[in-house]
Amino acid sequence: MSINDLDKLLEQTESNENTVKQARNPISQVYITKGALNKAYTYAELVCDVLGDSLECYGFLITPKESKDRVARDVYLAPNQIVSGADVTIEGEDVIRAGREIDASGYKVLGWWHSHANFNTFHSGTDDKNMITVLNELAPTNYITVRKKTPILGEGLKVRRRKNNLVISGKDSKKRIIIGMPEGILRPEGTLDSKILSDIQNLQLSTPARIGFAYSVVVNAIRGEPYCELATKEFCHSCYEGEEKSREANLRVVEGDLILNEKDMREEIEEKVSKFSPVFKVGKNFGKNRRGKKSKKTFFSGWPWESGPLFVD
Ligand SMILES: [Zn+2]
Repeated sequence: MSINDLDKLLEQTESNENTVKQARNPISQVYITKGALNKAYTYAELVCDVLGDSLECYGFLITPKESKDRVARDVYLAPNQIVSGADVTIEGEDVIRAGREIDASGYKVLGWWHSHANFNTFHSGTDDKNMITVLNELAPTNYITVRKKTPILGEGLKVRRRKNNLVISGKDSKKRIIIGMPEGILRPEGTLDSKILSDIQNLQLSTPARIGFAYSVVVNAIRGEPYCELATKEFCHSCYEGEEKSREANLRVVEGDLILNEKDMREEIEEKVSKFSPVFKVGKNFGKNRRGKKSKKTFFSGWPWESGPLFVD
């Protein structure tokens, strides 16, 4: 969809609150080709098969650099993954590193995908954090431009007469509009016609704004329904950065095939993905037993469901 089309779309519902909502959320759907979605599911299945366990994996949703629309046409399996049955964690550096490789192969990143192995698809707390990490890496370069309309003067107009002009300013605006005073613009009592006043009040400034975005698609190894989110961050012309938002979105699966080579995908998985094995930390002199002797008991940490670094003695 071109920006002009988008403008047209917004025009159609002009003059009610809907317009405002639409203008704030001009991106509402996630687009992926049938082939790319199938490839994500195939990775999800093959990771479990190759590594012989119910394991998650992740990667990025990509499209050729020259494509102007927002359709994910391929999926990329992230390298250096140590996967478990629990959530994957993505760091900003992971996105940058993978982004370089994707860029070199002529593609750009539109978002990320991951598999929940044999579980349902949804966004966990970790996924929400990953989403914001991915968004912040992508938003500066992955964006659409929309025109934002803002009132020039806003409510509470002040009208002053200066020589042959009328100077009109808003109560909360530093902007002023100066108009010449044609015959009859002022009513006999010296006030401005209410129709003209409301026209001035409704004058809007149209400025370009960038909305950075990132997709998230969650699949699993049991071909369940995909779950999908769309995160956005606004960059205004005056340079302020809007807050990051992510919400569940409609996944539009569009035509487009990919020919998959299962043998190559299995080899790629062997190269990029390895299974997490818990690392035991053996505590030395850990407590004393009843007879006052040092216990030989050990304690363990570093299971996948524990946060924090892993220790290796
Ligand atoms: Zn997840």
